[in-house]
Amino acid sequence: MDLRKIGKFIASSRAEKGYTQETLAEALDLSNRSISKWERGVCLPDSAHMIRLCELLNISINDLFNGERINMKDSKEISERQLLELAKLKEEKDRQLLKLEWVVGYVSTVSFLVSMFVVAYVEMDTWVRVLLIATGSVSFIVGGHHALKIEQTAGYYKCEKCGNKYIPKYKSVFLAKHMGRTRKMTCPKCGEKSWQKKVL
Ligand SMILES: [Zn+2]
Repeated sequence: MDLRKIGKFIASSRAEKGYTQETLAEALDLSNRSISKWERGVCLPDSAHMIRLCELLNISINDLFNGERINMKDSKEISERQLLELAKLKEEKDRQLLKLEWVVGYVSTVSFLVSMFVVAYVEMDTWVRVLLIATGSVSFIVGGHHALKIEQTAGYYKCEKCGNKYIPKYKSVFLAKHMGRTRKMTCPKCGEKSWQKKVL
């Protein structure tokens, strides 16, 4: 908060309204030394006088804190820009998650295949064989589950028929036929079954 800027703003708004420091002080039931302190940027009006001051000067509290009149249109633009930035952040996060899905899926699949290969071609005791099959399968199932969970929740699936973007239930993703991340599912909006692409 820029006290000097706020002070100048109070002074110019006061002059605009035709008040002197004395008449404004009188209207607020204060000494004119208080008004002078605010205008020199020594301190802010206390909360008890702030609202009344804004009423008298016909400014908003927001204007006062910013030391200038805030255009309603500007403040709308500012919040829209912030929303856009948030959307971009989510998109970036989803993109990274989908990369992670690929890594998790790849690692668990490869470790599964390697352990099956070893089981098939290497001489070993039965208990080692069983252990390898078990750990390979567990890594495949757990990895696959995590990869699919990421795919389900990062970004959206887009319906081919109506363009609806949505996040389906885990079960629908799990049971759907797929080619890569494109899955054959029923759109919750139009009810049609079609190939639905993953989009951010
Ligand atoms: Zn649809």
